[in-house]
Amino acid sequence: MKINIAIDGPSAAGKSTIADLLCEKLGYIHIDTGAMYRCVAYMAYKKGIDVTDEEKIKTVLKDIEIELTPQGKVLLNQEDVTEEIRKNHISMNASTVSKLSCVRTDMVDRQRKMALSKGYIMDGRDIGTVVLPDAEVKIFLTASASARAKRRYLQNIEKNIPTKSLDELEQEIAQRDYQDSTRQISPLKQAQDAILIDSSELSIQEVVDQIYQIVLEKGGC
Ligand code: C5P
Repeated sequence: MKINIAIDGPSAAGKSTIADLLCEKLGYIHIDTGAMYRCVAYMAYKKGIDVTDEEKIKTVLKDIEIELTPQGKVLLNQEDVTEEIRKNHISMNASTVSKLSCVRTDMVDRQRKMALSKGYIMDGRDIGTVVLPDAEVKIFLTASASARAKRRYLQNIEKNIPTKSLDELEQEIAQRDYQDSTRQISPLKQAQDAILIDSSELSIQEVVDQIYQIVLEKGGC
């Protein structure tokens, strides 16, 4: 039986990588909601709009169409922005723009429309708490800030993304954690019925195996 799986957690905890691997194993569809907030920040950047200017951001929202392809590409108004939206300045701006209520309402609405049936793995910050409160499996995936910075650093190098130093990345991750978990609307927090997995000392495969077991126990496959 197909179910829905919500994976929430702080930046660079490995949510997307793990969701992709689980999707391959289960034949599910991955919805990377962080990529959607990144698209808003990217469009604002391209148009020279301040990400704290709610009125102008409302106009940005009207103009954007986001498509997440099964091949893992992110299309913004049909332009492939998969790599552009991963750049450091976009990460911080995505966190800032995601505090606005107009942005949250719009994104949550789009996300719910994308997952009207079962068979989705959605990752983000508010999936288990707000977007898919009925998801059969909810995971809160975390890791220490230093473990996450190290992973992000290696990932940037592997994907040829210009990277900051390890220390700078750790500071940026801590700043984004703070901003995401202290915002007023839908802050990053573990849903009451979510299972906590700390991946600091675990390999990606170990995390995938743990979640896969949980899915089976909940009757999913
Ligand atoms: O997951 P990722 O690092 O790509 O997300 C970028 C930013 O988008 C996060 O720092 C967070 O502020 C925001 N976000 C959010 N809610 C989600 C997913 C991401 O607020 N469901």
